[in-house]
Amino acid sequence: MEQLMNLVLYNSLTGKKEKFEPLEKGKVRMYSCGPTVYDYASIGNMWSYLTADILRRFLEYSGYEVRQIKNITDVGHFTDDEGAEGLEASGEDKLEKAARREKKTPLEIASHYIKYYKRDEASLNILAPHFQPRPTQEIDEIIKIVGELVRKGFAYEINDGVYFSIEKFPEYGRLSGNTLDKIKAGARVEVNKEKKHPADFAIWIKRTGENAKHTLFWKSPWGDGFPGWHIECTAMAVKYLGDSLDIHTGGEDNIFPHHECEIAQSQAYTGKLFVKYWVHTRHLKIQGEKMSKSLGNVYTILAVPDKRYQSLEERGFEPLAFRMLRLGAHYRSKANFTWQGMEQAQKNLGKINDFYLELLNYPKDKTGKEIELDTSAALDRFKRAMNDDLNTPLALASVLAMVRAGNEIINDRTLVLKNPGQVKKQLEDFDRVLAVLYRRAGEGKKGKEIPQAIKDMAQKRQTARENKDFKTADEFRKKIEADGFFITDKEQGFKIGR
Ligand SMILES: [Zn+2]
Repeated sequence: MEQLMNLVLYNSLTGKKEKFEPLEKGKVRMYSCGPTVYDYASIGNMWSYLTADILRRFLEYSGYEVRQIKNITDVGHFTDDEGAEGLEASGEDKLEKAARREKKTPLEIASHYIKYYKRDEASLNILAPHFQPRPTQEIDEIIKIVGELVRKGFAYEINDGVYFSIEKFPEYGRLSGNTLDKIKAGARVEVNKEKKHPADFAIWIKRTGENAKHTLFWKSPWGDGFPGWHIECTAMAVKYLGDSLDIHTGGEDNIFPHHECEIAQSQAYTGKLFVKYWVHTRHLKIQGEKMSKSLGNVYTILAVPDKRYQSLEERGFEPLAFRMLRLGAHYRSKANFTWQGMEQAQKNLGKINDFYLELLNYPKDKTGKEIELDTSAALDRFKRAMNDDLNTPLALASVLAMVRAGNEIINDRTLVLKNPGQVKKQLEDFDRVLAVLYRRAGEGKKGKEIPQAIKDMAQKRQTARENKDFKTADEFRKKIEADGFFITDKEQGFKIGR
């Protein structure tokens, strides 16, 4: 617990590293912007979700009681919601668009992609949040807040929706720097003439005009309609965490307009500070370029049925190798994804796990000169690095250095490791934050063998894959995983692990 007070976090709101002090002693209320489930989650999405997971794990490691809410957006997120266009209810709802393309309902689209999203997060050892609200199930709360904002004079109704009036909230722009005086209607934005200010943003969208065919809608005091993306996060955060939160996470692309709008709505609604610390993860570049479908460089963690996307799995990488890659980069650094980087990460993953296996099976009868491996220096460096704005590359380096030193003793025939149990314990302690060990304590060597039934299923999956029957292949994968094993595809064949 002694490190509990030492965490320093970079706060996007102030642009400074600040000492972390939660609103309530020992407790952390944390909201993470989750996926909009109209497509498969990419490694870029996971890059940012991993930051939230590492942060949550480290807070718990430090003795805090954390409550994490992470939403799943299933309505109201428009294709134009990023960048300056995000202030207008323009473009198209992403789920409605996907539904039309795939000839399904938006809710069928949501449940399909949620399944894959959860699968991939689990494969990365990302802890499930304490609750994952969905806007389609929170409409009453959203309508209540929109109504209250109108009543208080912060929002007004016009022909196509209810808009938040940014001029009523002078602090608008504090997070992103897009302050009222700087903001101009974007050249590409078609400004609704009825809006009081071009940057006023929609919080309730009426089912009229361009949105007349929207299939998901609800009755409201402003007619049939649906909520805007920004108000949803406000409603879910306030409902499940209270008026004021300690930490809000997201990708840097969420800063404007999404998070800027969240602050305005929330603080106008509650009259209190919305979030104390804003933590934003910088974008992951893919081989030096922006990830985009047109460049064909959108990768997923595990294989998906959509052949436009390649997965790391199909390239022979384990999901946890991607977690290692993430740990090897600071969340605010300009990280670049390369295949060489992945290979190194996979190697390091193997190193830590092999070392752990050695410790589990370290022979008690070995003789030679006894050497004690000092774990306290590694622990000290680990904590100091993590406390310094989650410096995971340094923290990981200290763990890898301990592994290297341990291997030197283990691999020397004249030496005996005096404290294997303690080293093992220390590694498990680090793993509460790193979460990269396949095997937990006490499994012993027997755990290495793969039962015949699992091997048979893996073979059947392989055959299905070769026949491009990905549905069957996926079903076998699930069965294998349900039994506590994982499967990695190699250039030739596959590998099964526990
Ligand atoms: Zn959000």
